[in-house]
Amino acid sequence: MSNKVILIVLDGLSYPVAHHCMGYLNGLIEADSATLYKLECELPSMSRPLYECILTGISPIKSGIVNNEVVRLSYFDSIFSLAQKAGKTTAAAAYYWVSELYNRAPFVVIRDRFTHDIQLPIQHGCFYQADHYPDDHLFMDAEYLRSTYSPDFLLIHPMNIDDTGHKFGFDSPQYRNAARKIDTVLSSYLPSWIEQGYQIMVTSDHGMNNDHSHGGILAEERTVPLFVIGNQFSHQAQCAVEQTEICGTVCALLGIDFTDKKICHELLAGDQS
Ligand SMILES: [Zn+2]
Repeated sequence: MSNKVILIVLDGLSYPVAHHCMGYLNGLIEADSATLYKLECELPSMSRPLYECILTGISPIKSGIVNNEVVRLSYFDSIFSLAQKAGKTTAAAAYYWVSELYNRAPFVVIRDRFTHDIQLPIQHGCFYQADHYPDDHLFMDAEYLRSTYSPDFLLIHPMNIDDTGHKFGFDSPQYRNAARKIDTVLSSYLPSWIEQGYQIMVTSDHGMNNDHSHGGILAEERTVPLFVIGNQFSHQAQCAVEQTEICGTVCALLGIDFTDKKICHELLAGDQS
């Protein structure tokens, strides 16, 4: 199997809000073009630890990235490093912590804001530092990377849902509207990406609570969505997927062999083992 994969991590998006507020993604489900699964994020339910979890398959307790202040490169192979070593092209439009985990730490804005270096795990990057950097601008950055460099693996990581949740809390119109807004942004890009045959996953690192934060085990801060779109997914109704399996599953889609990453075989078409 070898397919181009776009992984979209909508920072801070709790499962029920994804399920109830994202009409375009739910429309894809009703049209049999997408399937939504529920997964529990690893702990602590915090951003940097879970970027590492999603991108390496290693839980925070094992990776050592146990809070947002651990500023260093990851000790593990990531989707980026494995893809780059396999001769594939990698790109990310993401928060600067992703650059710090896989390219260079600490982040140096003049050097790293726009990255183009095929020796680095993330070969092409647009990295931002402000949590209110507009999601629609980030998608413009991502589309620039996709259309210019044709990456095999593209990470898109917008921050406005999380930023809004920190300001107004989980049970707020503002938080729900931030999810509705990004759903509209997705509807501007996904039809073309689907038509071009990309395998697309839309998930989140963690959710949000009513105290305007996250980090613990409440359902609203721990339960996150995983939408899958593309003909290489099984689209079976039930699937016990773990956050630690996203990395290996993306590697399987990319056709990268010889990784020790855990794969969720149930997610994949023609691979029910
Ligand atoms: Zn947050």
